[in-house]
Amino acid sequence: MNIVLFGPPGAGKGTQAYKLVKELKMIKISTGDLLREEVEKKTTLGQKIKSIIDKGLLVSDQMINDLIEKILSNHNYANKLIFDGYPRTIDQAKNLDYLLKENNQKISCVLSLNVDKESVIKRILSRQICLKCGHIFNKFSNPSNKENHKCDLKYLNTRSDDNENTIRHRFETYTKETFPILDYYRSQNLLHEIDGMLEINEILEEIRAIIHSL
Ligand code: ADP
Repeated sequence: MNIVLFGPPGAGKGTQAYKLVKELKMIKISTGDLLREEVEKKTTLGQKIKSIIDKGLLVSDQMINDLIEKILSNHNYANKLIFDGYPRTIDQAKNLDYLLKENNQKISCVLSLNVDKESVIKRILSRQICLKCGHIFNKFSNPSNKENHKCDLKYLNTRSDDNENTIRHRFETYTKETFPILDYYRSQNLLHEIDGMLEINEILEEIRAIIHSL
């Protein structure tokens, strides 16, 4: 099974992906995380990527397609993939179909988390990410505590693109370039829409039910 988690920035894709990885022993592919890893290396490429991310724009399809091609050629990952924040353009979606087909795989379902713009902006402004384990928290609605998080609090961090100005640009980019992919997947009967305003565990329940029904 290969799953695409779809939705605007801050919809909760990363949170659900984290849970699904644990529960279903799948592998999460977040192009955002992969790009941030390159930024952390402080290479020339990393600096270019950072300036694009901080403007709320998308990096080139070519760069993303190359990243994904490497991942899909790893047979250990076959049919275990959860894509988080990818594909983000029609070109990426078509390239993913092509690469999966070449590797005798396909997308099993596209789970779209629907959340309105003002709610995602609020969520993102209080988002915290653990630099050590990658777990995502929210200062207000889902704070880190001793029960849900083992790492030291000093690892909790906010992303440089999680400020209001960049978020508004990210949302515009999403509406213009990413949202149209929904029709592409709808026409292939792969799309499942989920109310992303529900509680984290209610969303997980819905996802479980969809996966069970496949
Ligand atoms: P979010 O889901 O909160 O928008 P991500 O971590 O998925 O955040 O992505 C952060 C940034 O990385 C995006 O705003 C964009 O600049 C870049 N990025 C991530 N994935 C892609 C992609 N598939 N194509 C182009 N740019 C991407």
